[in-house]
Amino acid sequence: MAAILIDIDGVLHVSNEPIPGATGAVRRLRESGHRLRFLTNNTTCPRARLAEALRAIGFDIGEEELQTTPRAAARALAGRRVLALTMSAIVEELEGMELVGEGADAVLLGGADETEETGRVFSYMNLARAFAELEAGAELYCLHKNRWWQTKHGPLLDAGAFVAGLEYAAGTHATTLGKPSSAFFAAALEALDSDPGQAWMVGDDIESDIRGAQLHGIPTVLLRTGKFRPDTFDRSGVRPTVLLSSIADLPEWLATQR
Ligand SMILES: [Mg+2]
Repeated sequence: MAAILIDIDGVLHVSNEPIPGATGAVRRLRESGHRLRFLTNNTTCPRARLAEALRAIGFDIGEEELQTTPRAAARALAGRRVLALTMSAIVEELEGMELVGEGADAVLLGGADETEETGRVFSYMNLARAFAELEAGAELYCLHKNRWWQTKHGPLLDAGAFVAGLEYAAGTHATTLGKPSSAFFAAALEALDSDPGQAWMVGDDIESDIRGAQLHGIPTVLLRTGKFRPDTFDRSGVRPTVLLSSIADLPEWLATQR
């Protein structure tokens, strides 16, 4: 049986509306004996609440099965002095780092959402503060560098624009902690005690999910749900192991792969 790494947003649901057939697919994957881990670049919600929200829309998923970016940040930045521009809801997950307003040795950028808080977190004042810290020698980290995310009203601008802006201004490169970083996939495989070759990454994002997993040697399943766009797929040059209509088709397809 395989280790299956599953993206959440756009794969299990879009704006909290389950993808048709997704709850049943997760159940069938478990019944077939596959080991599951859910990898999300969500940056607005602590892990316990994320699990709760998934259960509320019908997914039988435990908190410990979720792999999130704030937890990856806590591991990577433990003991460091960090200027964190993140949503307040995830601050409780940034354990072990010292959060500071100045004199940081790392600047951490979180993700955006459509709330007013995003406007405050990524205000000119805060970005200018972050820039000053980078100029003074702090290293730049981001939970992810996603360009946009899919909502039921269409695509919305994500935090990648702010990360790229600071990289440009400070002439530096951010270390990405979530997908598509190799460390994030490695942590998921370790949690399932699996090698890349015995695993699958299932996602809707050609860059973060598919290209990222491929660079780590993991076979991939791209789904035509969530943020999938045929023209982006054609232009990307990235080719997954298989392209399926949705996660609903995954259990049956995997059964043909023994
Ligand atoms: Mg996704």
